Amino acid sequence: MAPFPAPLDALNTRIVACERCPRLRAHCAQVAHDRRRAYAEWEYWGRPVPSFGDEQARVLVLGLAPGAHGSNRTGRPFTGDGSGAFLYPVLHEAGFASQANAVSREDGMKLSDLWISAVVRCAPPANKPTPEEQRNCAPWLDEEIGLLRNLRVVVCLGSIAFNGLLAHAQRSGQISSRAEFSFRHGAEYVFSSGLIVIASYHPSLQNTNTGKLTRAMFLAVFERARLLAGVAPGSD
Ligand code: SF4
Repeated sequence: MAPFPAPLDALNTRIVACERCPRLRAHCAQVAHDRRRAYAEWEYWGRPVPSFGDEQARVLVLGLAPGAHGSNRTGRPFTGDGSGAFLYPVLHEAGFASQANAVSREDGMKLSDLWISAVVRCAPPANKPTPEEQRNCAPWLDEEIGLLRNLRVVVCLGSIAFNGLLAHAQRSGQISSRAEFSFRHGAEYVFSSGLIVIASYHPSLQNTNTGKLTRAMFLAVFERARLLAGVAPGSD
């Protein structure tokens, strides 16, 4: 008899089948059909992108949404686009990722003490999900955080992810109001549950090509997350 899937695997399976946002589902399917010329040989993923990582993770990285030709193509968060090319080398140097290169679901990448998710799981046109689409996807995040039993620190990449986490904290009774929380790179907050939040600029090309977010700044965020989560250096 086949064993029961792990709870986070089972959740990912349900997420991949989600159809709550007709606009996003249509967009992802269209992008997967049209393809970018450079990826003409790829069979695009084109579905909601499942989360990825270590189910025992003490650190969660929360992004905005899949890139149309990145994770909407490869089916794994931050894999195959410019944001991932900036993120994974930093995760590798900080000891959370087994390798620096993230190119496909079959590239051998393993994460240690880290889980990567997003507030919206389908690639939105112009990287802009509507408020309704963000609300549609929120129950997946609530369920996921509930299953990350060892979670201590959330690194929010960008203000939309930060606000998505605050909304989760309100729904789950960890904060009563969002008034005292503001997005600023490097800002840290602690919810009543003890969960620690670190805000970071998103590693989009717009931020990294302009120097708004440097590799040193980003590495400092993950070294701080490692320290706050009590993950020993080199424990991977
Ligand atoms: S964005 Fe989230 S809620 Fe909307 S269809 Fe995709 S997985 Fe479902």
